[in-house]
Amino acid sequence: MPEAPDLYVLREYLEPRIKGEVIESARELRPLVVRNLIGEPLVEHVRGRKIEGLDRKGKLLLMSLSGGISMVVSPMLTGDLSLVEASKKPLKSTILTMNLGGGMQLRYSDAKRMGQIYYVGSDNVGEITRVADQGPDVLDDPLSLADFRLALKRFRGEVKGVLTRGELVAGIGNAYADEVLWAAGIFPFRKVSRFTVDDVNRLHEAVYSVPSQAVATLREIFGQRHPRKDRKFRSVHGKPGSDCPRCGSTISSVKSRQRDTNFCRKCQPGSMFD
Ligand SMILES: [Zn+2]
Repeated sequence: MPEAPDLYVLREYLEPRIKGEVIESARELRPLVVRNLIGEPLVEHVRGRKIEGLDRKGKLLLMSLSGGISMVVSPMLTGDLSLVEASKKPLKSTILTMNLGGGMQLRYSDAKRMGQIYYVGSDNVGEITRVADQGPDVLDDPLSLADFRLALKRFRGEVKGVLTRGELVAGIGNAYADEVLWAAGIFPFRKVSRFTVDDVNRLHEAVYSVPSQAVATLREIFGQRHPRKDRKFRSVHGKPGSDCPRCGSTISSVKSRQRDTNFCRKCQPGSMFD
């Protein structure tokens, strides 16, 4: 669930607070889904390393540590990094705790445990499939309309799947795909090969404006506080049965490949059989 805008504000909050801190000790509370390419137990290997920076790429967070080590977090649906006082009781979902100076603790929690942590040499980050396959980040400078049109030609299939796969643009997941397609007025199951010139124009506009607007909104909501999940401001995703903010029709919900797609049938007309 954390997608580019969520991770963008999380990184913005965390980085100045953890950069330069030394990981004094670490503890694994539950079996950790780690792809460890270093070959030594993470909790021991990470001890004494300084946090040199926290970056984001698409739906991944990359923490660089001294000694040329990187911890890459792929939170998937429910993974979360948080900075809390070490005395605070861990959640049931807390998997990894790292003690920093000043009584603070960096925690990774993941209720569904679908997320992954890659513990790798910083030089090898590019070899992680999830990093290597990513397209240009959706919060970076937008592709020009001409380049976007050209890039889109490489893809087939339903537009929602094309957006969430991360190769056309990186950082969009299930929730923001619904928001983007609602803003663009495009039926989520429409095949990109059948797009009109106007469809491409509207998708190009919405795919960059919706996530960057979400960053501004999340900043407003959280200010200097630790960003948490907040979906109240969304237009359609997670709001089946509510009124469409544009036309007042009821928001629909379709389950496909274990994912809920929420959209407005009036603003986003189309058929599964197109
Ligand atoms: Zn509508």
